[in-house]
Amino acid sequence: MYQRLFFLILTVVIICSLPLTARADTYPVSCEDQEFFQIERHNLVEQQLTTATSGQIPLTDTKIIDSLKTVYRHAFVHPELHRYAYQNRPLPIGFGQTISQPYIVGLMTELLKPRAEHRALEIGTGSGYQAAILAELVETVYSIEIIPELAKQAQTALDACGYDNVKIKTADGYYGWEEYAPYDLIILTAAASHIAPPLIEQLSKDGRMIIPVGPPYEVQTLMLVEKTADGSIRQRSIMPVRFVPFLRDDD
Ligand code: SAH
Repeated sequence: MYQRLFFLILTVVIICSLPLTARADTYPVSCEDQEFFQIERHNLVEQQLTTATSGQIPLTDTKIIDSLKTVYRHAFVHPELHRYAYQNRPLPIGFGQTISQPYIVGLMTELLKPRAEHRALEIGTGSGYQAAILAELVETVYSIEIIPELAKQAQTALDACGYDNVKIKTADGYYGWEEYAPYDLIILTAAASHIAPPLIEQLSKDGRMIIPVGPPYEVQTLMLVEKTADGSIRQRSIMPVRFVPFLRDDD
């Protein structure tokens, strides 16, 4: 009898402590800052993202550094994770997906060289955080997310924080977003086995695309793809990375 009760309690404890990846609910967001977050955000940027700690190339673009100091990363994660929001690491956002590490968000954004008049396409809205960073820097961000609940939650957070220059749709981003193409910048935040031809097509001349390419659940290569003024394509590998896999509608 006691043994059964023990196992019942143990099961309940295990279920309740499952990471947020197991949650299927969306939640309200109030986009408010607090002194604790302010200090943590400042320390994250000053001590980890812009210095050569742990061998990483420091971020140097002041506009991008400012956007990392401005965007409330805590608003893009579940309230239970707020206290970890300004650590330089990925965090679960549900459905087996993660919000990327702030350093990687900053680095990918720097490689895109965003300008105020640019229109950007993001594949993999996830939490909406990368979209918010881009929204600080470009005219409009078009972002595609394959998991409807994440698209909805990201929209809630972006609305709460006042980002009205981000347009989200739920779809398989493999095909890009034809309606608003071409894009000056394209960013993929999930690892694909190859660069989807529709995305190359939807990149404007002189456009830049940043994409993790490689096998799922292993180390991939962050690639920078540039389309020159005459329409030819140049590719360059930047560094090894680990991203969640690019999903297809039939996965
Ligand atoms: N940019 C996000 C990172 C999210 S992780 C952020 O700042 O939080 C990658 C996201 O890509 C996941 O939400 C995943 O659901 C989404 N994704 C994976 N495959 C996709 C596809 N084919 N089309 C659109 N989104 C996709």
